Amino acid sequence: MSEGPQAPRGTFDVLPRQAVARARVRAATAAVLQRAGYGEIETPIYEDTDLFARGVGESTDIVEKEMFTFEDQSGRSLTLRPEGTASVCRAYVEHGMHKLAQPVRLWYWGPYFRYEAPQAGRYRQFNQVGLEAIGSDSPLVDAEAIILLHELIAGLGVPGIELKLGSLASPQTRSAYREELAAYLQENEADLAPEVRSRIDANPLRAFDSKDDGTRRVMAAAPKLLDRLEGEDAEHFAEVRTLLDAAGVEYELDPSLVRGLDYYTRTVFAFTAANLGAQSEVGGGGRYDGLVEQLGGPAAAGVGWAAGIERILLALGDEGEEPRRDVFVAAAGDGQRHRALALAGELRRAGLSAEVDLAGRSLKGQMKQADRIGARHAVILEEDGGAQLKEMESGEQRDIDPAAVLADLTD
Ligand code: AMP
Repeated sequence: MSEGPQAPRGTFDVLPRQAVARARVRAATAAVLQRAGYGEIETPIYEDTDLFARGVGESTDIVEKEMFTFEDQSGRSLTLRPEGTASVCRAYVEHGMHKLAQPVRLWYWGPYFRYEAPQAGRYRQFNQVGLEAIGSDSPLVDAEAIILLHELIAGLGVPGIELKLGSLASPQTRSAYREELAAYLQENEADLAPEVRSRIDANPLRAFDSKDDGTRRVMAAAPKLLDRLEGEDAEHFAEVRTLLDAAGVEYELDPSLVRGLDYYTRTVFAFTAANLGAQSEVGGGGRYDGLVEQLGGPAAAGVGWAAGIERILLALGDEGEEPRRDVFVAAAGDGQRHRALALAGELRRAGLSAEVDLAGRSLKGQMKQADRIGARHAVILEEDGGAQLKEMESGEQRDIDPAAVLADLTD
């Protein structure tokens, strides 16, 4: 490793060959979501801190200990976005999107920031693709969102995908259940991890996320919210399941699926992939019927998910490849370099990728370079004004009219 400067802990550079893999995922994502009628939205990388405190929830790990928060020159508290839903809901309210046909269907792609312990698949700056459908409480929206995430990751070829599905009910049912669960946790306090114990009152459901063995044993026998679903919550969940069955999307019910964000109501889901190790979740999300109102907007129910781009690439094992080159334009002598640059320009304008030597290499050196970058053809501009075309794979070489190189190559 170099002794020079390094990217901050938990961050990484995307080099050209990896950018090729990323561009592939982005193109596939845009195609899947745009075909389904979702429009792309971009929100700022930072927001007022208050948006996340209110939107994500004060007692979540994200808000309690993972945000990159700073003050600007005038003393405002700003935060690098740790997730996308709060920002998109803020934009929905700010732009009066409740006046559009509902639900408003949006997707986004970009960097997110969380101060987490870095490990394989977990970074402090990572990229997510996300989807939000705001303005409808129909189970059709939940089902479509899940189907689209499945289509996206299955279509990309992510191996060993499993879908976990749960419901967090309505706030009323959940708060009654919270009390029941808190009482159960108190009874079993001695077996819980200290961090879980300290959160019994603030956020007892998070105990389901604990990796601590004692806590896990206690949680295995804990009362489950899925068993407390009733009325419209139960109907909604049943309908989501019927729709997924009809679409042929398989799932496993997971009563312990809580997710680390406070805004979820009713449906929650997560996709895992077989070869991701400890950080096995590729993407997940759920319904957040109270969030828009909580942020000061109209009552507008919503559903959303986010998937980690780096996790998708890890699961695919796609390390990309060097960007492809069609042509290397070589100059037999220094006098031909201006012709080489002009011809490369003409080929590029016609849509071919074309390179010239920028390092003063001899003709031999240029041909080596053409080989190294995997160029399909090399055009050699000769000192007498003529030209040769070499097919790099076969080595076959022939005279070519220098004025008709483009026509010849695109023939
Ligand atoms: P969340 O926003 O927490 O629901 O996470 C959605 C998805 O983003 C997860 O399933 C992961 O694929 C990805 N993700 C979340 N946190 C990180 C992280 N620190 N590093 C890399 N990917 C992450």
